[in-house]
Amino acid sequence: MSTHSIVDLRSDTVSQPTEKMRARMASAVVGDDVYGEDPTVNELEARTAAIFGKEAGLFVPSGTMGNLLAIMVHCHRRGTEALVGDLSHIFLYEQGGASHLAGVQLATLKNEQDGTFSLQELRRRIRHDDCHEPITSLVVVEQTHNICGGKVVPLAFLDELTTLVRQPGVGTGTARIALHMDGARVFNAAAALGVGVERICRDFDSVSICLSKGLSAPVGSVLVGSKAFISEAHRLRKALGGGMRQVGILAAAGLVALEEVVPLLGKDHERTKKLAKVIFELKSPNVTVDLETVQTNILLVEITQPKLTASEFSTRLGIVESGEVEAGVTDKNGAGIVVKASARDWAFARVVLYHQVDDEQVELAIRKLKYVIGQYDLRWPRA
Ligand SMILES: *Cc1c(COP(=O)(O)O)cnc(C)c1O
Repeated sequence: MSTHSIVDLRSDTVSQPTEKMRARMASAVVGDDVYGEDPTVNELEARTAAIFGKEAGLFVPSGTMGNLLAIMVHCHRRGTEALVGDLSHIFLYEQGGASHLAGVQLATLKNEQDGTFSLQELRRRIRHDDCHEPITSLVVVEQTHNICGGKVVPLAFLDELTTLVRQPGVGTGTARIALHMDGARVFNAAAALGVGVERICRDFDSVSICLSKGLSAPVGSVLVGSKAFISEAHRLRKALGGGMRQVGILAAAGLVALEEVVPLLGKDHERTKKLAKVIFELKSPNVTVDLETVQTNILLVEITQPKLTASEFSTRLGIVESGEVEAGVTDKNGAGIVVKASARDWAFARVVLYHQVDDEQVELAIRKLKYVIGQYDLRWPRA
């Protein structure tokens, strides 16, 4: 098994710290960050805030903590509700922390395939000034949208959303509705749109950014927003167990991620499109992609054969069957190829690209995909 070449496309979380990150980590000047005395953390927070055009930043151990802190600060009053997409990471994959840790009710808006939701529905769902109802305190947008396949939520949508939420008379009494962006992959959105992240996040009160996804740092997220917002989040981070000490060791990798990896995200998108195009051009009746929807580093592969599930497809990509090496599905040393993918649901497998997936790895993945899909097409030819 260990002799095979492995192309791991399950998620961009499996990305590895670069040589430069390891070097900067080794030489990082550190202090006790709970006392605010770690210069490397302070630099990462200030640099990230500046890039986003916000007043302040806060280094946190995970994107989940960043999102939870944003919910806790924006929804500090008891009896409040936050509106999130029904396919959002916050709703699906953060254990409902908003309710079980923050005491905030989440209400969902149906996500469209492009990661947006209906603004008319939002308008209807914002609560009235009525003591029977919870107070609408927050609306969250995910950028890019993970489960929707790395979709870039368009600027026009963000602008309309802002106009709606900021309209006088919208919301409960004088309570202002906050906007938070789960920007785990917001740098991917910026690369795809060709605009700066500060434009994308201009009207948002807070943004949570992951350093350990496509940005390839080992650990961490940064939350940005106003000074008052970050000061509250800083306080609450301690209660959540996120007060870390000489954590400049980790922040150092984040600084390198911003300098070294962010400018290269467009390459990941090109390679993702290349992979998509190859699958599309196979014109397989069993496995396909919707080329139009491939925008960033996430590719949804659709299983159109009813006798096959995405999980079976992923499992098959992860093994080398007899005859495969003989058929030439090998790396340059003649070893078999393993492609690790994940199944989003029964119909869609998901592959995700990142810094370490270079042109050579993409070629290996293409070889394997062509072969496996070719086998399916022999078994289930077009009717
Ligand atoms: C990964 C991710 C997060 C944060 O996840 P952690 O594993 O807690 O860092 C948040 N939102 C989205 C959309 C993500 O993909």
